[in-house]
Amino acid sequence: MKSNQIVVLLVAAFFCSGLSGCIGSDSFDILPEKKGVPGGLTLACLRSSMYTSMVIEIDHEPGYRPFSSSADMLVERLNSVCDKPSGISVEYNEVDFQHEGAWTAQDVRDKGWEQKDTSPRDGTTLYWQVLFPAGTYETDSVLGVAVDASTVALFGDSIDEADGPFGRPSVEDVENSVLVHEVGHLLGLVNLVYQSPVDHEDDEHPGHSNNEDSVMYWAVESADVSNFIFGTLPNDFDNDDRNDLAGLADGSIEIRDQLWP
Ligand SMILES: [Zn+2]
Repeated sequence: MKSNQIVVLLVAAFFCSGLSGCIGSDSFDILPEKKGVPGGLTLACLRSSMYTSMVIEIDHEPGYRPFSSSADMLVERLNSVCDKPSGISVEYNEVDFQHEGAWTAQDVRDKGWEQKDTSPRDGTTLYWQVLFPAGTYETDSVLGVAVDASTVALFGDSIDEADGPFGRPSVEDVENSVLVHEVGHLLGLVNLVYQSPVDHEDDEHPGHSNNEDSVMYWAVESADVSNFIFGTLPNDFDNDDRNDLAGLADGSIEIRDQLWP
């Protein structure tokens, strides 16, 4: 009997330590989980000491399911930089975000967290989430946004109109690239949570590459992408991006603002 009471007390103390308020046993006011900044879960992806597998949760409204080539390419790109020995998989949910009007970054954050199937860090699995909502961003030339450490959105209505003349690049090409680009921001590219030893961040577009052959090139998430990029749209990280990620993974480049570790 006595030992049971101690267990109960210990459990209560454990829960209360992570709570604000903690007034009364049935009015637990749980602190919201820290959402972090894009790049805040970079090491959680690059390293496998805690998170050995990864799930990309794709929440799309009816009619906005992405091309399967986009998810396939994203998984391939992530596998090439992140250490996930138990694999990276994709889960699709069809949802109704019940959102009117244009989207702000805060809308993406709020609706994303309402829909998340699980915490971004659950056991040994890391969850990143991609929203494909109906409608456009408040700046309708924006094709995609990364809003916190685990959440990005792609705006299909704007991507549909961003293909080039004569269908090159195609809508599918644009979607492929924008998806890798936004998730690249979750990997901290470029200079979001570190300072690269190489000068490859675009002076006029912070957080982006100045190399038009990198998927992190600034124009990739912009509606006039086909006016800025001639030839093939980049859909992969360049050597500077990859060297940054390798340096972050092995600790030779200092990183900040991490939710883990
Ligand atoms: Zn960007």
